[in-house]
Amino acid sequence: AGWSLSCRRNVSSSPSRLQSCMPGWVIDQYGTNGVLTYTEDIPVPTVNSPSDVMIKVYAASLNPLDIAMRGGYGATLLKLKRHPMSVLGSDYGSEFPLILGRDVSGVVVDCGSEVTHVAPGDEFPVETRQSGRICDSNRVSHKPKSVTHAEAASIPYVANTALSALVNAGVLITGGSGGVGTFSIQLLKAWGAHVTVTCSQNAEGLVRGLGADEVVDYTAGDAPEQLEMMEKFDVVLDNVGGETEQLALGLLKPWSGAKYVTLVTPLLLNTDSMGLLDGICQAGSSLQSKAIQNIISGGVFYRWGFYAPDGPALDDVSRLVDAGKILPVVEAQFPFTQVPQAFQKLEQGHARGKTVVRVT
Ligand code: NDP
Repeated sequence: AGWSLSCRRNVSSSPSRLQSCMPGWVIDQYGTNGVLTYTEDIPVPTVNSPSDVMIKVYAASLNPLDIAMRGGYGATLLKLKRHPMSVLGSDYGSEFPLILGRDVSGVVVDCGSEVTHVAPGDEFPVETRQSGRICDSNRVSHKPKSVTHAEAASIPYVANTALSALVNAGVLITGGSGGVGTFSIQLLKAWGAHVTVTCSQNAEGLVRGLGADEVVDYTAGDAPEQLEMMEKFDVVLDNVGGETEQLALGLLKPWSGAKYVTLVTPLLLNTDSMGLLDGICQAGSSLQSKAIQNIISGGVFYRWGFYAPDGPALDDVSRLVDAGKILPVVEAQFPFTQVPQAFQKLEQGHARGKTVVRVT
C-alpha cells in the first residue's frame, strides 16, 4: 500500500499524522499467516543516508523468500543488519514490527543529497525493497514504459537473481580480436558480464571500443603473470587453444562451478586422420578424460564449444544489433571477383573482426 493513501484519508483530522504514518502489513512475531497484521500506524521512514531514495509504492510482488522470512528464516542476519552490535551477543532490541516483501514498483518521492540518476516525481522506478519504502539508489531502476506497476513489481527480485546466477560473470575471452572474439565481447557486455580479453597490443583500441573491461597483450612477456594477478574468472571462452588452454584453466575460480569452453577442438583433425569412427572415439575419450581431470583437480567444468545453427537465436542478435548493442565488425570487404584475395587475407591471420565478400 502507498503511504499517500493514508495521508489523504487523514488529512482533515490530523495534519501531523499526514506526514508521519502510513498503512501496511507487518508482523510482530514469526509464524504462519496469522501473524500478518494490517495497520495504519507505521511511521513514514525518512531519507537518512545521502544515497537513499524514498518510494511511494504502487504495487509489490511476493517471493517464496517472503513466506520463509515470515516464519523466521534469516532472522539472525536480519537482526545483525538492523543492529550490527548484536553480533557481540548483546540484545539491541527487536526487529519487530517487520514489513515483509522485497519487490515494489512506484514513484520516487524523496532523494538523498548524493542521488543523481533519479529525482522526485519524474521517475518511476522498480526496486528491491529494503526496510520499508526507503532503499539505496543503487537498487532503483527505471520502470519499463510498456507495463503496469503491478507487472513492473514482478520483475526486480527474480531478474536480479537470474542475472546474478547466470550472467553477472567474470569472463575471459582469449583471442578477443578475431571474428568470434569481437562478437563475444559485445554479446557478453550486452548481457552484463565483466569481460577481460587477450589480444595483440595493436588490437587493444578495437576490443576496448567494443566494451572489453580489461585487456591483456598476450605478446607481452609477463602476460601470464598479469592474468594470474587478476581476480579469478567464472568463465573462459578460449578462441586460441594450444598452450593457452592450460594457462586459462588455471585462471578459473576453483570449486565454484566455473567453466572453460574451448572452440579449438581436435574433433575434425581426428576424424580426418583416423576416419570417422576412430576419430570420434579418440576425440570423445580425450574430452572425457579432460572433463574428469579438471572436475577432480579444481572443480572446473571443461567443455568443447561448437557452431550450432539457430535462427531464433539470431533474431535475438538482430534485435541487439538494431538496438546498437552489437556492431558488426567488418575489417575487410572484397568484391565477388576477388574471392581468392579474400581467402588470402584470411590466411594471413591477425584478423580484426570479419572479412566479407560483396556478391552484388
Ligand atoms: P579469427 O582468425 O577471426 O581470430 C583469431 C584471433 O586470435 C585473431 O584476432 C588473432 O590476432 C588472435 N590471436 C592469435 N593468437 C593469439 C593468442 N595466442 N592469444 C590471443 N589472441 C590470439 O578466428 P575466429 O574468431 O573466427 O575463431 C577462433 C577460433 O575458434 C579458431 O580457431 C576457429 O577455428 C575456432 N572456431 C571453432 C568453431 C567450432 O565450432 N568449434 C566455430 C568457430 C570458430 P593476432 O594473431 O593478431 O593476435
